Amino acid sequence: TNVPLLELFHQLITEFESIAQARGITLRIEPAALIVSTDRNLFYQLLQNLVGNALKYTDHGEVAVTCVADAAALAITISDTGIGIPSDKLDRIFDEYYQVDTQGAKRMGVGLGLAIVKEVARLLGFSVSIASRIGQGTQATVNIPHRFLAAVPTGNDAASSVEPVEGTTRRA
Ligand code: ATP
Ligand code: MG
Repeated sequence: TNVPLLELFHQLITEFESIAQARGITLRIEPAALIVSTDRNLFYQLLQNLVGNALKYTDHGEVAVTCVADAAALAITISDTGIGIPSDKLDRIFDEYYQVDTQGAKRMGVGLGLAIVKEVARLLGFSVSIASRIGQGTQATVNIPHRFLAAVPTGNDAASSVEPVEGTTRRA
């Protein structure tokens, strides 16, 4: 299916903005005029898990969703200003039931979210990587190969065609 990113982002805002507000965290989602050809529900589930984690492991500051497209791929990054993940634990966070447990920082959950993210990304042909700095925050990046992408058409015949993304870097 053709999934407009704007639509998914809107759904994320609908689902998470009151949660962010209740936690005193800014949720910022930059609009991106791209269409991803993929399974809508699985793709949403992937983003939902990453944004959910970002909010859950952040006590102040911001959770941001940003996009950068280049000739090869679209990178969607979910970044937070949260507790971070110790570097020696980073390679295990995609494991089933694994949760970092440091000084009471463990939160509700069972440790399956990122295992699901990893499997869904594999199924869809995407990849996910996570970088983090303890005490500073975490960035999860979903890499979507160019073959799944199209630009949202502009102009009068907006509904009639989709054009391939140009081979240049663009920011939403
Ligand atoms: P579940 O997602 O099943 O409700 P969970 O959030 O604990 O539980 P995962 O989403 O798989 O499980 O994440 C695994 C662990 O990685 C988390 O327990 C947490 O320790 C760490 N983690 C994941 N995302 C972040 C983040 N954005 N900031 C800090 N730690 C994170
Ligand atoms: Mg989780």
